[in-house]
Amino acid sequence: MTTVTERRQPIPFIDLAAQSRRLRPEIDRRIAAVLGHGRYVNGPEVEELEAELGRLGGTSAVAVSSGSDALLIALLALGVGQTEGRRDAVFVPSFTFTATAEVVLLAGAVPVFVDVREDDFLLDMGSLEREFEALERAGGAVSRAVITVDLFGQPMPRQPLADWAASRGLEVISDAAQSFGARRGGRPVGSLAALTTTSFYPAKPLGAYGDAGAVFSTEPAVAEVVRSIREHGQSADRYDIVRLGMNGRLDTLQAAVLLAKLTIFEQELAARRAVAAGYTRRLGEASASMGTPWRIDAPVCEPEVESSWAQYTLRVDDADGRPSADARDALRAHLARAGIPTAVHYPCPMHLQPAYEPYGRGPGSLPVSETLAERVVSLPMHPYLDESTLDRICDRIATA
Ligand SMILES: *Cc1c(COP(=O)(O)O)cnc(C)c1O
Repeated sequence: MTTVTERRQPIPFIDLAAQSRRLRPEIDRRIAAVLGHGRYVNGPEVEELEAELGRLGGTSAVAVSSGSDALLIALLALGVGQTEGRRDAVFVPSFTFTATAEVVLLAGAVPVFVDVREDDFLLDMGSLEREFEALERAGGAVSRAVITVDLFGQPMPRQPLADWAASRGLEVISDAAQSFGARRGGRPVGSLAALTTTSFYPAKPLGAYGDAGAVFSTEPAVAEVVRSIREHGQSADRYDIVRLGMNGRLDTLQAAVLLAKLTIFEQELAARRAVAAGYTRRLGEASASMGTPWRIDAPVCEPEVESSWAQYTLRVDDADGRPSADARDALRAHLARAGIPTAVHYPCPMHLQPAYEPYGRGPGSLPVSETLAERVVSLPMHPYLDESTLDRICDRIATA
């Protein structure tokens, strides 16, 4: 039984403090080692981290400065930008974080927004085919690449997208910013696309104490180009600039922090999966008997997927089962009054964002993304959520 005071205690959305208490001695030791050798850029921890990431991702890993830079470097490595004076087109899901779209424009290409599937938020192959055909008919930009997004931690199926893209001469980049550590069909994220990028932003499943990211490549030649771009386009000789690059390096201190966090990452992933299963079981039992002004759908995961559960995101409808931003917002307010924080990932699809509107086709063009933006709500999710807190959150959802 929880007491009244416990029931009112605010719950953290993400509990980084619990993890830091657990890891503090190892993190202190790792940071002290960097202060000792003083190689703050390209220190030995960066190489050590790359070896560890490569082992987990099942392919070679290059550590970079952030998940956004990882995406930009991946596009540059594939030469995406312009083809014979025409701008390249890159297909991206509209229901994503802004970085996925922004890097396309930074590379000099144009984004073509694609809808997602309603049940698992992943790229919709039918919508991709329609947008591709429309672009081919219209001419103008040159279809060059697709960026898929493993939204909330669930990896995109490798096939049939790989076949579809190969038969049309398109490259595939997997934006796995939220899914590092996840698997599909037993294969780890990192090896599920020719080029995969991830983020170690503090709130991601594997988080640094600042910005950090990585690029995974199944082709050694591409991995070498990624390394060169990360270091201003240098060849083996530092002052020999052979291609356009940038400063995309990972700080040694962040590598040191990540090495400490990797010692418990598999345990934390298992804990996240247990929390997700705990939510789904409780919410499934509750939804049948709910007399609330909202109806909820728990996230759907295919059986061959082991998600990294970056977010646990519900879809909310009104009492009659219709999509409703009002019902979603009422549920959020109801939870907030009980000290339970929520977040909306994401409140506006990219094709309707002011910065990207010129590249989209306006309201109504990607209906699933638009409706999801009104329906979704993410619940507190981290490896240290206990059973009584899950009870408290799920009881609150089930009682108006
Ligand atoms: C977080 C995130 C990024 C960007 O990663 P940063 O490390 O913050 O630059 C890119 N794409 C998606 C889907 C993300 O969630």
